[in-house]
Amino acid sequence: MSETQSKKASNKSETLTYEEIQALPKCDLHCHLDGSLRVPTMIEIAKKRGIELPAMDEEGLQKVLEAGARRNSLADYLRSFDLTLSVMQDEEDIAQIATELCEDAWADGIWYLEVRFSPILHQDKGLKLTQVMEAVLQGLREGERRTGIKTGIIICGIRSIEPSVSVRLAELTVAYKGRGVVGFDLAGREDHYPAKDHAEAFYLIRSNNIPCTVHAGEAWGPGSIKQAIHDLSAHRIGHGTRLKEDGDLLNYVNDNRIPLECCLSSNVHVGTVESLEVHPLRFYFDYGLRVTINTDNRLISATTVTREYQIAHEVLGLSRRELGSIIIMGFKSTFLPYADRKALVGRVLDALGRSKIPF
Ligand SMILES: [Zn+2]
Repeated sequence: MSETQSKKASNKSETLTYEEIQALPKCDLHCHLDGSLRVPTMIEIAKKRGIELPAMDEEGLQKVLEAGARRNSLADYLRSFDLTLSVMQDEEDIAQIATELCEDAWADGIWYLEVRFSPILHQDKGLKLTQVMEAVLQGLREGERRTGIKTGIIICGIRSIEPSVSVRLAELTVAYKGRGVVGFDLAGREDHYPAKDHAEAFYLIRSNNIPCTVHAGEAWGPGSIKQAIHDLSAHRIGHGTRLKEDGDLLNYVNDNRIPLECCLSSNVHVGTVESLEVHPLRFYFDYGLRVTINTDNRLISATTVTREYQIAHEVLGLSRRELGSIIIMGFKSTFLPYADRKALVGRVLDALGRSKIPF
């Protein structure tokens, strides 16, 4: 019996159901707005705006998006975003999508959501960057009003778009700091687009005391994580899946408590790991790294945070207590001010204490 199998067997008596995990307080720190739409909303907007999607029925469109997500390549995975972005070019549609994401995340047991997007990708019909920002902010405020969720925005620079654009997006982040925006990110294709090319944008972010995260170690190796930490001063790493290939860097990340934003299903879909069974989350957790569990893209990877925790529980054999630890590490890793974070962690600990998860 393998180590994973024996762990799974020993946890059998304490198996959590989907509903039990859903009821636990959780956060989602890595969630792309343009990857987390509702399929019926995509169709509704497409019909309203006269946009041609590859399928105009729910089942057909879901199939197209799922097929796109499972091509084992980050570059191919990212092509599905051409479809979602085609229906995210008008303010009211963007606001509606942001509100619905809050509702979906709240139903998933998410108490705190950091949602990321790149405003530059919503300008096909001439919206200004500020109009895109206001639309998302309005949508999130409405979502917060309808539910009990708290949200924060992370603005994304894109690796494959000119570094000067990342600087403009960093300036936007500086302007909206404390007004709904909590951080900055670098997303997009890792191969051929090194993070350090965008150092100027991150210098501006750093000089304005804004937290940042960088997608790294997903499609490219640990060198990409090294650049994210040392050239861009990333406070968190988006994915970091291939960190295990460099032991020295692994220890640096651990010693400095740099959180990894793990997204299990997405890593399989883009081909970073061969299967869920071999995902390094279990090893990272056992080694002591600060790991968090997130969706990446609720629609494109057809998942929820609950589902991702269920995978960690059932496939990687993490126990109830271990899931509780990851929940806490998630809330500790938010880009909220320390006092807010501390208060939130306190409320989460209370809620977990009331549940049957032992600490
Ligand atoms: Zn991502």
